[in-house]
Amino acid sequence: MEISVPNELLHDYQGKCWWCGNTADSREHRYKKSDVVRNFQKDAWKTGVVRVKDASSREEYIQGANSGKLKFAKVLCARCNNERSQAFDRSYDVFAEYLHTEEELIVSAGEVRMSAIFGANWSERTSDLQKYFVKHACCRLAEDRVRIPGGVLDFLNGTRPDLPHMSMEMSINLSVREMTAHLRDVHGIHGGSLWSGPHQVWLNSTKTAIESVNSHFGINCYFLGYSCDMQSNTGGLPLDGDRLEMPSYRPEALEDVDIRDACQDCNP
Ligand SMILES: [Zn+2]
Ligand SMILES: [Zn+2]
Repeated sequence: MEISVPNELLHDYQGKCWWCGNTADSREHRYKKSDVVRNFQKDAWKTGVVRVKDASSREEYIQGANSGKLKFAKVLCARCNNERSQAFDRSYDVFAEYLHTEEELIVSAGEVRMSAIFGANWSERTSDLQKYFVKHACCRLAEDRVRIPGGVLDFLNGTRPDLPHMSMEMSINLSVREMTAHLRDVHGIHGGSLWSGPHQVWLNSTKTAIESVNSHFGINCYFLGYSCDMQSNTGGLPLDGDRLEMPSYRPEALEDVDIRDACQDCNP
């Protein structure tokens, strides 16, 4: 975590599954194997995939198919990791495949239409997609010993239809996108990148409780930011009908930088 949080404000999960409370005996993949395989051809691991100097200092760049960083610590039980979240995983797979194949279209539109991805039952499948993201975020929160609010679990359990506490947003990191294209076109390196930011924690004014925790993770140029506010009763992905906004941005440090100047191969 970014700042040191007093030990008494952290939650001891005592080796139990953060979702159901049984023994946590399963290591969830941080990134789905299909994402890893799709984005990293074998030789891309050796050459190092996307490297963005300076701007990446706050990102953890994940390297190597066998990296331990690709799995969470044991914070879930096998049943929650598999059966209970199967539908979430399936919706995520469909979503990720669409983002991958329609990247040009999505960048220029600045949004995606969930009905175009999921068809008639897009609403239910979008809810499952959000549950996939929530599960990912919860594994990270549990790893960092942040107590997960009960309302978030109610949403995962289907006992409440809306997601409280945890707001999420998606965006497109244009610098990563340009670097990927540069490495491919100039250096013949075909690959993708997986990103994981640290948790940033805000305490309340008397420093007696965690107020909110936020972070992000990314696959190639797509980033999902999340913020878990312990008091808030609202959350979720902001949808306008079936439209999910996906605005593009450049990290501040790379705003006026030609991507060639940020390339480690062009500037050894
Ligand atoms: Zn469980
Ligand atoms: Zn270069």
